[in-house]
Formats: sequence, structure tokens, C-alpha cells
Amino acid sequence: MTGPDLPSLRETVARHGLDARKSLGQHFLLDPAVCARIAALAGALDGRHVIEVGPGPGGLTRALLASAAAEVVAVELDRRAVAALAELAAAHPGRLRVVEGDALKVDPGALVPAPRKIVANLPYNVATPLLVGWLRGAAALEGMTLMFQQEVAERICAAPGAEAYGRLSVLAQWRCRCDMLLRLPPGAFSPPPKVWSAVVGLTPHAEDPGSVLFAAMERTTAAAFGQRRKMLRGALKSLGDAEGLLAAAGIDGTRRAETLTVAEFDTLARVVMKVGGR
Ligand code: SAM
Repeated sequence: MTGPDLPSLRETVARHGLDARKSLGQHFLLDPAVCARIAALAGALDGRHVIEVGPGPGGLTRALLASAAAEVVAVELDRRAVAALAELAAAHPGRLRVVEGDALKVDPGALVPAPRKIVANLPYNVATPLLVGWLRGAAALEGMTLMFQQEVAERICAAPGAEAYGRLSVLAQWRCRCDMLLRLPPGAFSPPPKVWSAVVGLTPHAEDPGSVLFAAMERTTAAAFGQRRKMLRGALKSLGDAEGLLAAAGIDGTRRAETLTVAEFDTLARVVMKVGGR
């Protein structure tokens, strides 16, 4: 997969002075076998347009290019890494496009045609806002295979009643089927992070709630979990008539946010949308 003409990933890092920067959440995967495993977790890639955020020295990028993906478009903030990927792009004419920029400002739907998949070892400092943005536009995506800090991955996949269940669990599971696919120890990365990491697979549900309902769900979950120890009739006061909203949704106001299922949040968010809650 490294290809006869490509330097090893360690050589790429050394040649381009890619010493990892904390401010950019840089923890590189330099083992081609691990990169291949993560690419395989993305499922079928043939004919897909794959977006990779933060390719860094390009280990995962190489694995993605070894698949039958139509193209890989890699968005990278670090100019040093963009330069390091030029060699890889030359080795795969017309199949790798490197975009220098902030992934938070990039719309996947505008970047590549469908079918689109996002595969990434995410920079941990912006992983949550990136995910929420992609969930908002999930209808345009076929799937996402994303590496997070394990604690964030657990929040994404948590069930009601679990301590990790919160706003991110509801938003993610409301829009996607979420599967914990792989856990990796700190030593799998260079430099090693302080904590374990995990890959989550997110497959968007067919139904698209649309942007207005998504915004209502964001407001609802932010209010409910913002004061998660409170009963919902107190926690939802910031949305307006909390008791009225809960009654319309058929939800007992003495319950706490962590006990509500994703389906109950869906009902509540639809009520909030209708009354245009604050
Ligand atoms: N994919 C590489 C790997 O697995 O070895 C690097 C992963 S590293 C955890 C995260 C990468 O995201 C770094 O290359 C970093 O420069 C890049 N990055 C950080 N913030 C970014 C942003 N806002 N937009 C795009 N890339 C970003």
C-alpha cells in the first residue's frame, strides 16, 4: 500500500518537518496495517467520493487510495502536511485532491458529488463541532467512519440512562445509526495522546428532518442536558412554557433528560418547532 515509489510515513514526517503540533490535535497513524483496518471499516468505497479531514502525513489517505474509491478529497489546515501530500497525489493521478483550509468551514455537499463518505482520524479539539455540522447535513452523506477520543465515541453511542448519554448521543443517534467499531490504545499514534481512541461508524437514517427541525432539536437537547440533574419542567424553562411543551409531547415533566429516548426527544423537538420555542 505504501507503493514502491513512496517513502515510508516516518520518512514523510521527517522530510517535511511534520513535528506534531498540539494546537492542531496532531496524533499521527504511522502503521499502514492500522490505517488499512480503519479504511476497511468504512465499508464499500468503490465509486464513492471520500472526504478525509486532516490527512496529516497521509497514512489513512494511502489506505483510502488503495481502495476503489472514485477519489479522495483531503481537507488539511496544516500547510506542511499539504506539501507532504503532493507526492502522494502525483502517485495517484486524478484521485487525490488536497484542499488547504479549515474543515469547519467546508460543506461536504459542495466539495464532492454523491455518493459521499467521510473517513477521518479527527483532530480532537474540533471533533465535536465537526460532527454536529455533518449531522446537520447528514442527508447528503452515505456514511461516516470517524476516530474520536474514546470518551467522545462513548457519548455518541450511549444509551438512555447511561452516564455518557447526552446531547451528542441524541443528535447523533437521531440522525444516524451509530456503531462503536474499534478501540485503539494511545501507543497506536505518534505522538501518543493521553487517552484511548475509538472509531465510530455513522450511517444516516433515510428520513431527513430538515434544518428547522434540526435547529429545534439542538435547542431542545441543549436546554434539557444543560441542567441534566433538574426535572425537565425546570430544565426546559429557557424554551418558554416548559409544562405546556412537555404536556403536548406527552412527557412527564418530573422526568430528567437522561431518561428520555431518542424517539421521545424527536416528539419534543417537533413540539418545540411548532410553537417556535425560544
Ligand atoms: N489523518 C492523519 C493520521 O491519522 O495520521 C492525521 C490525524 S491528526 C489526529 C488530525 C489532523 O487534522 C492533523 O493533520 C491536523 O493538522 C488536521 N487539522 C486540525 N484542525 C483541522 C481543521 N480545522 N481542518 C482541517 N484539518 C485540521
